[in-house]
Amino acid sequence: MKSDIIFTTANNNKYLSAPANNYIIPASPVFSYIVEQFIKNENDLNLPDKLVINDKEYLKEQIDYYYNKFMFLKNKGFFLKKRKDEFGKLNGKQVEWQLANVDHLVFEVTDACNLKCKYCGYGEFYADYDERVNKYMPFEIAREMISYLAALWQSPLNYSRNHNVTIGFYGGEPLMNMDFIKSVIDYLEKLPIPKIHFNWSMTTNALLLGKNMDFLVEKNFNILISLDGNEENHSYRVKHNNKNSFRDVLQNIKQLQQKYPDFFKKNVNFNSVLHNKNSVSEIFNYIKKEFDKNPSINELNDVGIRPEKVEEFKKTYRNNYQSLQQAENYEEIINESMLNNPDFKGLVSFMSQYSGNIFEKYTDMLSVKIKKIYLPSGTCTPFSKKIFVTVNGKILPCERIGFQHALGTVSKSGVELDFEKIAQRINSYYEKITDQCMSCHRTQTCVQCIYYLDKLDERPVCKGFTNEKRFSDYLASNISYLENKPEDFKKAFEEVSIG
Ligand code: SF4
Ligand code: SF4
Repeated sequence: MKSDIIFTTANNNKYLSAPANNYIIPASPVFSYIVEQFIKNENDLNLPDKLVINDKEYLKEQIDYYYNKFMFLKNKGFFLKKRKDEFGKLNGKQVEWQLANVDHLVFEVTDACNLKCKYCGYGEFYADYDERVNKYMPFEIAREMISYLAALWQSPLNYSRNHNVTIGFYGGEPLMNMDFIKSVIDYLEKLPIPKIHFNWSMTTNALLLGKNMDFLVEKNFNILISLDGNEENHSYRVKHNNKNSFRDVLQNIKQLQQKYPDFFKKNVNFNSVLHNKNSVSEIFNYIKKEFDKNPSINELNDVGIRPEKVEEFKKTYRNNYQSLQQAENYEEIINESMLNNPDFKGLVSFMSQYSGNIFEKYTDMLSVKIKKIYLPSGTCTPFSKKIFVTVNGKILPCERIGFQHALGTVSKSGVELDFEKIAQRINSYYEKITDQCMSCHRTQTCVQCIYYLDKLDERPVCKGFTNEKRFSDYLASNISYLENKPEDFKKAFEEVSIG
């Protein structure tokens, strides 16, 4: 199968997409015709002396001109068939290297929570997490993990001269384990690694913010507060007595805003979950009016749902795109908060994959001309984004995947991570999916995390599989967007930072 295709936008313009070479090129009618003929049957490219396309006549001289262009690209490596040996394998060294350069360490400091939100990722809808038993992470676990990482951070594998590392505190509700948080910060502040600068972040329901805010401000925390909008919008976020937590939460947030206005402006953001008791418009209006902030609005996670809860989940779920389309102040929301526009979000993701101008590492800038070996799927190399440690000492590549995918463990007696075994396990998943990737058009720009596929240990079927029609529609919709709103190209590059 060839990855290169010709697609047509809503404005009837044609383009050549050559993902293996990372190009999308405007294509004239004759050029498109030649490419389409070649893709249909590369052994029989008999071009006529005259062509009529859309009532316009093209003579041999023009056809030859575009044929030469086509041959030029062909000689540069375009229009090749996908080969199985383009799919590489992960090795243990790569995993170790990522860990030595990891810049985000997140602790699940407790599985206890002072709320019991209906849609919680560790609640009634989901099945892929460890049982919640009100456990609190002891400091010794963090100390073992940090000592292990500190050795790697100071080893020749760490390539940065000055390394900013974010330590995230996650729960349950992290403010319920302040002793742990204070001990970790104290330990890290005294750790003699001059080239590493630590900063702190936390996602909180804000119920215990009142009594802890002085410390969080003193340590310059970045705080993400979960708030779903006004009192009615927030009513899935209930305390253990089933009472809406809204009033207590609001009081604490207001107190922080009044006591530390500069900190609040700079360090506090809001995260809202979209469901059937709120809407994009209600969330946006409330948080904008009360706090002058643009919330980040997220849909419910639809992975790992218990079979018996599927119907109830569907009733609770609300789609971000549809909710935004229905907002009466759609324009205002889009202008104020571009990233809440699913079209724009999609465009940013499209541009990060297809512009050829986004590099994960400095060294990638040197190797763009070298033919890449792809790892099947869009799964990150473990620890390239972060390292997540659960309250039970499981080590994962992030907090968004099922705990059954732990890559290692940490306990009071040390860290158990076998990089070769991790690579082998992930390679075994890759093997199961490579045949699907071979006939999929998203290979070079895949965003499908393998951990989100069901039956990973048996025969996973990729939900993201993209045939030619689906891929062509995807390309056409994004390029049509840019044709209609070219100013958003600049906006996406200048105003969006990709974490
Ligand atoms: S979307 Fe699925 S089938 Fe397609 S390349 Fe990605 S992992 Fe492979
Ligand atoms: S969701 Fe998958 S790809 Fe994304 S950070 Fe987690 S493990 Fe990596």
